[in-house]
Amino acid sequence: MNSVQNLHTFKLKSNAKKISIIEDVTELNRFVGKANGYDFVVLGEGSNTIFLEDFSGEVVRLNLKGKAIKETETDYFVTGAASENWHNFVVWLLENEVYGLENLALIPGTVGASPIQNIGAYGVEVKDFIFKVEYFDLTDGSTKTLVNEECFFGYRDSVFKHNLKSTAVITNVTFKIPKTWVPVCTYGELAQLKSPSAKDIFDKVVSIRGSKLPDPSVLGNAGSFFKNPIVERNIADEIVKHYADAPIYPTLDNKFKLAAGWLIDKCGLKGFEHGGIAVHDKQALVLVNKSGVAQGKALKEVILKVQNTVFEKFSVVLETEVRLIGSQGEISVENAEQ
Ligand SMILES: Cc1cc2nc3c(=O)[nH]c(=O)nc-3n(C[C@H](O)[C@H](O)[C@H](O)COP(=O)(O)OP(=O)(O)OC[C@H]3O[C@@H](n4cnc5c(N)ncnc54)[C@H](O)[C@@H]3O)c2cc1C
Repeated sequence: MNSVQNLHTFKLKSNAKKISIIEDVTELNRFVGKANGYDFVVLGEGSNTIFLEDFSGEVVRLNLKGKAIKETETDYFVTGAASENWHNFVVWLLENEVYGLENLALIPGTVGASPIQNIGAYGVEVKDFIFKVEYFDLTDGSTKTLVNEECFFGYRDSVFKHNLKSTAVITNVTFKIPKTWVPVCTYGELAQLKSPSAKDIFDKVVSIRGSKLPDPSVLGNAGSFFKNPIVERNIADEIVKHYADAPIYPTLDNKFKLAAGWLIDKCGLKGFEHGGIAVHDKQALVLVNKSGVAQGKALKEVILKVQNTVFEKFSVVLETEVRLIGSQGEISVENAEQ
């Protein structure tokens, strides 16, 4: 077995049967027809993946690099290969005076993973800029392209988590970024900025994130552990009845988005610790690997504790945002408990 501890930012001490690095797309041919979800998993920088158990298959890491900017009169068309680091890509765009992705600065991970859960932060989602996604199809070995509408982007969601889960290996992402820049400063502290430049927004985002989120290189974590739940009106009304200040945002389809971190905090779980895993004491949405030697079993127990406590108090189901890998491939915690 080979250690994957340093291949995922939560840094659980897990192993995989084999770890390989793909330098050229043609090397993916050996996986064609074998995308069954348990023989291998494709991994970027492991910032949204946790190896809860020793994985009995192969961890496939891509090393596909390259980036280019083309332009028309009105837009930039920017392409990044899958293994480009996301934050460095945002910095490179700023240096080239291409503005629009600055709100997404400092999100860990790769360009290739960015469409998968439609990364978002500070009022911007990457879907707002994605023009097309190229992928290697593991069912037949062909290269295919999806335009934005075909990716079915949603909140932390896309076709790559559904119909194309396990069968699409993203190789390149192209972004369409209008030359007319419109700053997005609607979110929290960004609203304090007066006539900011893209660099001002970038700096502010970097500083807020640095002060609020634990740095995975210092304290193992996978960012927001749970998705913000979307609920029906009756559940939202019940919460407001008891907490007039509850952060609740109406969605376009007449539902209500709640803040998962707020719910966890209101359950008194901030700082809760078990088996070396803790709910972060500054940001309840983040679970951290405090001891550095914690086991997957302890993490499963903390996930269930958080989910059950929130459900008992608010009748709200929290889903994990993080992708959990068990011995036979991706699992949900419910499966992990069986
Ligand atoms: C401290 C911290 C803060 C974070 N903040 C945010 C935030 O603000 N907003 C946000 O949206 N997310 C955030 N995240 C989550 C994470 O950064 C994103 O989900 C990121 O896109 C994951 O990239 P990755 O390369 O690390 O993906 P990985 O964890 O390596 O992979 C994620 C999933 O995508 C699959 N995958 C990866 N690359 C490919 C590919 N090329 N082709 C096909 N499948 C692939 C993997 O199999 C896995 O299922 C945060 C994470 C951390 C640790």
